[in-house]
Amino acid sequence: MKIDQIIRTRRKTFALIVQRDGSLVVRAPLRASDKQIGDLVQEKEKWIIAKQEAARRMYANTRPKEFVNGEGFLYLGKSYKLAIVDGNQPALSLSDQFYLTKSALPHAEAVFKAWYKQRAKQIISERAAWYAAQNGFVYQRVNITGARTRWGSCGRRGTLNFTWRLIMAPLRVIDYVVIHELAHLKQKNHSKVYWNEVKRLMPDYQQQIGWLKANGDTLRL
Ligand SMILES: [Zn+2]
Repeated sequence: MKIDQIIRTRRKTFALIVQRDGSLVVRAPLRASDKQIGDLVQEKEKWIIAKQEAARRMYANTRPKEFVNGEGFLYLGKSYKLAIVDGNQPALSLSDQFYLTKSALPHAEAVFKAWYKQRAKQIISERAAWYAAQNGFVYQRVNITGARTRWGSCGRRGTLNFTWRLIMAPLRVIDYVVIHELAHLKQKNHSKVYWNEVKRLMPDYQQQIGWLKANGDTLRL
């Protein structure tokens, strides 16, 4: 097992740190021998490997996009590979994979963003309309934002706001955020009464919250 860095300081205990890029750092007391460190790392090998795999997966999904052939882009919870193709219309399309025209390559990020926004508007509007009709909620309209960490919000006049990034998440997660905001039309707070209403509409809502906590960072370009 490769140790990327050993930091010896005036501390009494050892600490194993797997960094964002998956590298392994060991913090050790001043007098710790290389053998002691090696033994510890060997003993914790399984844990380290699991951590490194998770870190590398997350890192691969959150580093800035390069818009190159074979790179993965999320849509409704699935990763689709990108293919750069000749021709010019449309600039970006999705079937078995994403197809981006060479002429659109210089402004690929803007093209992707516009595509995601348009899909978000369509699908989130449909989901909100469906859940509202089923449960007697009345809202003004659905608005798509570019918020980075706020998945949704409910405006005072009944406008529902959702970030376009949400369209990269699985539909069940999108539905949870839609339900979360719809439920705020009746309860402006996060009280017990509020969460009971969310639970009534989506009994497994906590799973979706967990998904967003674990994967929210990957919903970006
Ligand atoms: Zn809320």
